[in-house]
Amino acid sequence: MAQAIEKIRKLFSLDILRCPADDRGELELRTEDVRCRSCGRIYPIVGGFPVLIVSESRFEPEPGNNL
Ligand SMILES: [Zn+2]
Repeated sequence: MAQAIEKIRKLFSLDILRCPADDRGELELRTEDVRCRSCGRIYPIVGGFPVLIVSESRFEPEPGNNL
């Protein structure tokens, strides 16, 4: 898994991965998923590669929202 993350990190360093939902959202690589800093969508990492498909994304509950 660490090697896969390193591969993804290289892609991120090339700045070619962008959020497909808003077209220019900067993506943040996390341990097991990828989060868009712009719209907050979270994309899964499957097989060591981020799945940047809007229909596969989800939203994280906002911190402080006690629903
Ligand atoms: Zn986005």
